[in-house]
Amino acid sequence: MARYSAFAIARHALSRHQGWERAWPDATPRGRYKVVIVGAGGHGLATAYYLAREHGITDVAVLEKGWLGGGNTGRNTTIIRSNYLRDPSAAIYEKSRSLYEGLSQELNFNIMFSPRGVLMLGQTEHEMRAWSRTWHANRCSGIESELVTPERIKEIVPIINLDGPRYPVLGGLWQPRGGTARHDAVAWGYARAAAALGVDIIQRCEVTGIETNGGHVTSVRTSRGDIACDRLCLVVAGHSGELARMAGFRLPVESVALQALVSEPVKPMIDCVVMANTVHGYVSQSDKGELVIGGGADGFNNFTQRGSFQHIEETVRALTETFPVISRMRQLRQWGGIVDMTGDRSPIIGKTPVGGVFLNCGWGTGGFKAIPGSGWATAEMLAKGEPGEMAGPFGMDRFAEGRVIDESVAAAVAH
Ligand SMILES: Cc1cc2nc3c(=O)[nH]c(=O)nc-3n(C[C@H](O)[C@H](O)[C@H](O)COP(=O)(O)OP(=O)(O)OC[C@H]3O[C@@H](n4cnc5c(N)ncnc54)[C@H](O)[C@@H]3O)c2cc1C
Repeated sequence: MARYSAFAIARHALSRHQGWERAWPDATPRGRYKVVIVGAGGHGLATAYYLAREHGITDVAVLEKGWLGGGNTGRNTTIIRSNYLRDPSAAIYEKSRSLYEGLSQELNFNIMFSPRGVLMLGQTEHEMRAWSRTWHANRCSGIESELVTPERIKEIVPIINLDGPRYPVLGGLWQPRGGTARHDAVAWGYARAAAALGVDIIQRCEVTGIETNGGHVTSVRTSRGDIACDRLCLVVAGHSGELARMAGFRLPVESVALQALVSEPVKPMIDCVVMANTVHGYVSQSDKGELVIGGGADGFNNFTQRGSFQHIEETVRALTETFPVISRMRQLRQWGGIVDMTGDRSPIIGKTPVGGVFLNCGWGTGGFKAIPGSGWATAEMLAKGEPGEMAGPFGMDRFAEGRVIDESVAAAVAH
């Protein structure tokens, strides 16, 4: 893998930047791999990378039906934070956040991690009580977060309107080391580093069937031929139910469209992430100057990757009452992704009823921030054949056993 550096940019300038090699090769699928990972989103690619780097397993293919990072990984609003309520969540999200801090250096790829701080507003007494509970839980699990007053919020975000027409801002939960990163760069960086370690990344290769023998996976059927494997990991977010059906089991997951929009670019006006859960809108400003605005999830199951107008209206209304200064801005574009929601708003990482088939899904509306930690924990599970300490609590059996990891409060606007 050629090293990216300031010197490399200067050297390539001499040949008008015509000599850069491809970031990762376009692999042709082989007939057999030790591990096949379905889905080249952030979680699938990070899993492949940590399998190769941490466990020395490089006989790995990542199969992607479209283009790499074209699913939710390339469609999200990139919020990264770790101030979740429950211990297992705190562990995996904090592992992730801390891996994000050094990821550009580790992957030799600028993922533009920006620890600008994430502020979650409290706009009702009930919400303030919930943030207070989360703050205490965070202190117990060693996660840095602060319960802040309206005065402190005004210092952090001077353009905010504390006396909204519907709900005043009563306080908030502030994680100064949370922030954002460039989403495609996370996928590209992991893909490049995994390919350099020997992983085959195969785009335009749709998995259409899963073959088993005696209750154990033998191969996957794809649009580019059959591929045999010892272990199969399904990492396809909103399409997880479909892939589980191919393997012969059902998942406690619903697929719905979640949408986002961006405004026209303006000069710097907000230098942190603000989430207003009660009125339901959240915002950060991209390096280009656009406001990146997140909306709600559709209230019905669908696979449209579009989202609906009702949510745009609701989101823009929420933001204009929180930041009246943006009321005349034009919105440039809107899009949606299909998110995989579990009942307790926590992910599923674990084994399945089919031998050799493993799952990583259910990240719903908040899995971008978890990519490094989730990839790390899933790689450990694939290498050892059993979930490790970090993945252990997230098995699907928790729904049958009633030991849910309820993050629906921490995840009302789940990012
Ligand atoms: C609008 C929006 C905003 C969001 N905002 C945030 C946020 O601010 N912070 C945050 O932490 N999270 C956020 N999320 C959630 C986050 O984007 C997802 O949880 C995360 O990206 C999931 O990554 P993944 O790798 O599991 O899935 P994906 O990136 O969706 O990757 C799955 C891949 O599987 C492929 N695939 C599917 N079926 C097949 C098949 N049969 N064969 C081969 N390949 C297949 C798909 O093409 C896709 O590329 C947001 C999501 C959306 C939609």
